[in-house]
Amino acid sequence: MIAVDATGVMSFDHKHCDQCLTRTSSGGKITYYHYVLEAKLVTRDGLCLSLATEWIENPVGDYIKQDCERKAFLRLAAKLKKQYPRLPICILADGLYPYEGAFEICEKYGWKYIYVLKDNVLPSVHEELVLTKRKDPAKENHCVKDGNWIDSKYRFQKDIFYHNKYNLHWLQCLEKRTKQMKPGKVSDAKPEEFCFEYVTNIDPTKDNIIELCYGGRLRWKVENEGFNTQKCGDYELEHKYCRNSYEGLQNYYTCLQIAHAINQLLEHSREIKEMLKEHSKETIRNIWQNLVSYMIINTPYKDYLITPHPS
Ligand SMILES: [Zn+2]
Repeated sequence: MIAVDATGVMSFDHKHCDQCLTRTSSGGKITYYHYVLEAKLVTRDGLCLSLATEWIENPVGDYIKQDCERKAFLRLAAKLKKQYPRLPICILADGLYPYEGAFEICEKYGWKYIYVLKDNVLPSVHEELVLTKRKDPAKENHCVKDGNWIDSKYRFQKDIFYHNKYNLHWLQCLEKRTKQMKPGKVSDAKPEEFCFEYVTNIDPTKDNIIELCYGGRLRWKVENEGFNTQKCGDYELEHKYCRNSYEGLQNYYTCLQIAHAINQLLEHSREIKEMLKEHSKETIRNIWQNLVSYMIINTPYKDYLITPHPS
């Protein structure tokens, strides 16, 4: 499962380089910024590893329309196919992706996809769903998660032909979350309701519908375990380390992906997991701080003077 999503890396109030994207506010203020599109391998236990990166950037010189996420996805997909020609891939992506270009590229490369379906896209598909939405759910599920009692209802509809060319299947998960006060007793407050809908080219059945919807929701990992960790977890994704060079900015980004991948593999290793289990108050952050202290203590004083401070 490969989650594809874009994120902002830097923004400026002045022209930073020839390839900046620009956006003009209603008051006429121009913002210059850089965006990057990522393809990250996501797993159930929280790994989120960058497999390919594509910068959303304007060409140097004249252009009529700015670059955008959809155009960058076609380039990213070609890169992914070239680097991993035989990898069985399922692309997970947000509501920007259910459109002809993204269906076509996956069919061409023999990939599966699960895209979030929003109310205002693919109106012809929504028209075909009116009856199905009224039918009894194909599957129901109840479970307790994070202190909530969760009732889920799953529906699907197969074989919706889009533009007489793409055979789409629709998936829906309706979820009601009620706070659980103690085992077997739920709160009287009104439950929170959520609706998740997707289009996919994987054949849904009663037996795999839960799994498919879960797959669709793994897309969130690219935002949480991926971008949020890289922005807020000491990786400083948005910090302006390379103000004057677009190339420098891209190089920093690549190093960051490598560092994050190494850390994730280490944090998921048996040794670290056992260490965390053994000492309930131990944290990843503290382990890193100890490691840095260890490196400082074990660096001979003369080397320490000429080595940049490890932090
Ligand atoms: Zn720039």
